[in-house]
Amino acid sequence: QQPFLSVKDLKVHFSTEDGVVKAVDGLSFDLMRGKTLGIVGESGSGKSVTNLTILGLHNPDSTSVEGSIELDGQELNGAPEKTLEHLRGNKMAMIFQDALASLSPYHTIGAQIGEVYRKHKGASKKEARERAVEMLRRVGIPQPESRVDNYPHEFSGGMRQRAMIAMALVCDPELLIADEPTTALDVTVQAQIMDLLKDLQREFGTAIIFITHDLGVIADIADEVLVMYGGRCVERGTKKEVLSSPRHPYTWGLLSSMPSLDGPVDVPLNPIPGSPPSLLNPPSGCRFHPRCAFAEKVDGNRCAKESPVLEITNGRGSACHLTDEQRTEYLADLTAAK
Ligand code: SF4
Ligand code: MG
Repeated sequence: QQPFLSVKDLKVHFSTEDGVVKAVDGLSFDLMRGKTLGIVGESGSGKSVTNLTILGLHNPDSTSVEGSIELDGQELNGAPEKTLEHLRGNKMAMIFQDALASLSPYHTIGAQIGEVYRKHKGASKKEARERAVEMLRRVGIPQPESRVDNYPHEFSGGMRQRAMIAMALVCDPELLIADEPTTALDVTVQAQIMDLLKDLQREFGTAIIFITHDLGVIADIADEVLVMYGGRCVERGTKKEVLSSPRHPYTWGLLSSMPSLDGPVDVPLNPIPGSPPSLLNPPSGCRFHPRCAFAEKVDGNRCAKESPVLEITNGRGSACHLTDEQRTEYLADLTAAK
């Protein structure tokens, strides 16, 4: 089976007054139909930029994009804006943290959902309205026949988030990119939205990229996990592999800075010291080395000098100079220290 989305050696660099920001620096991954890839990392790790680039929403004047983005066999990098515009909303769609930013305050919820449908499917006003009602019902808005005429400010935060999902899914896209869509919501609504996405995926076979800084969310929704640091992938694998036997010290840090999950490694709650790297002047060698408690365990200052290669076998791999023996030992120590 061919991957539905295949990203190969993606590099996204921005020109700024201070120099070139290497926001994404050699990222590759595949996503199959109907599956969820969780991309996890701190802010500034390149996760949102990656996905805006897939959608073609970057600024072409200041951004250079290298590498390949193949969606269902079609190359998107360098595709004409008209092609991308057609694909956006129709074949791929995105939901964000802030529904208010994607909904206009001046138009009713129904008009906005209907507009996307009319634009891509050439539907009449009446059909678009019926479709909007159907979508609101599908995402669990009560009394959609009357709610369809509400404005965004008449919806609660959770309902606005549902309306945004309805708008994203109105043309049955095959790829949905969700960028921290539940971060601003309280825990109960967050759980409802996650369930909704899972239901919709089961029903329509949508492939989902779920971007988050929260491994708890990953544990809930992802099939595969990609851990990003400083514009690069540092670890990837199935959810079980990454959460139960994490290989990269950065992933250990992420796991130890979250409340315990059921089952997987349960290490103490403490945030990773230091801050994410500058993408203008990234650290030499391993980009994580200034923050890594294990860099000194690797001989010859290698972590500061030599960039570890990401080797992936059967979808599993990490980019770190530690040996397998070291990794097993340190992870056991971390787990025991709790
Ligand atoms: Fe830490 Fe070195 Fe591994 Fe980077 S390569 S994560 S600095 S041990
Ligand atoms: Mg972001």
